[in-house]
Amino acid sequence: MVQRARRGVVFTGAGISTECGIPDFRSPGGFWTRYKPIEFSDFLASAETRLEAWRRFLVIRETIAGAAPGAGHRAVADLVRRGHVARVITQNIDGLHEAAGIPRERIIEIHGNGTYAHCLACGCRHEIDWVKEEIARKEKPPACTSCGGIVKSATISFGQAMPEQEMADARAATLNADLFLAIGSSLQVFPAAGFPVMAKQNRTPLVIVNREETGLDGLADLVIRRDIGEVLAALVARIESR
Ligand code: NAD
Repeated sequence: MVQRARRGVVFTGAGISTECGIPDFRSPGGFWTRYKPIEFSDFLASAETRLEAWRRFLVIRETIAGAAPGAGHRAVADLVRRGHVARVITQNIDGLHEAAGIPRERIIEIHGNGTYAHCLACGCRHEIDWVKEEIARKEKPPACTSCGGIVKSATISFGQAMPEQEMADARAATLNADLFLAIGSSLQVFPAAGFPVMAKQNRTPLVIVNREETGLDGLADLVIRRDIGEVLAALVARIESR
């Protein structure tokens, strides 16, 4: 199926990055389960909540900053280079698809990017290291140096509107796909999980690679319930040998 594909879409979730030391959303003991997610409206409503959100984010960021792409990311990059995969839609905020060498314009980050921050009012970019210093110095959440607005990591929080352009791009890529591979996502977070559903409705073959059952296994043409790095590395090796 992959070898025949020319406009494939790879849709990834946190599971592709666990081999890089970044816990997925639901793994017990991971930082994502230790804290209840902070809703976007609460982030906006109080400086105290913003400070807490930033403190939690900085813990997560330490892990992300130390991570390098794994076998799964490298294999996806290989499928892009070989022309089987046209776009990668990711729910991840870790930037590891880009770090694996996939050109920026082929990646659609529907939940944003955690490697930098931005002002919610004027959009001005701020570096996370600057945020860290500001918090250490002032014990207050950072304010934009250009306009004084609220600064937030460039990720999409629960309750925050999805980014319009990225959602439109992901929709277009999904409708254009000749194969849809959903990798390392429990497929429970909507609207993201709507893309594999959309692909299937458009009669595009759907393959799911995830070590546990997902919310959409019943829809898929093929479900591979095994380790992502292992499966994708074997796939690339097989393509190479032909
Ligand atoms: P999820 O945690 O709901 O699902 C991840 C799935 O991957 C799980 O079903 C798990 O069994 C599977 N998995 C983990 N490691 C695997 C491996 N090595 N091989 C095979 N399967 C494996 O994640 P989600 O569906 O992406 O939703 C979580 C949300 O949280 C996302 O929206 C994302 O924005 C955010 N998040 C991002 C990161 C990141 O950027 N790396 C990490 C955690 C959470």
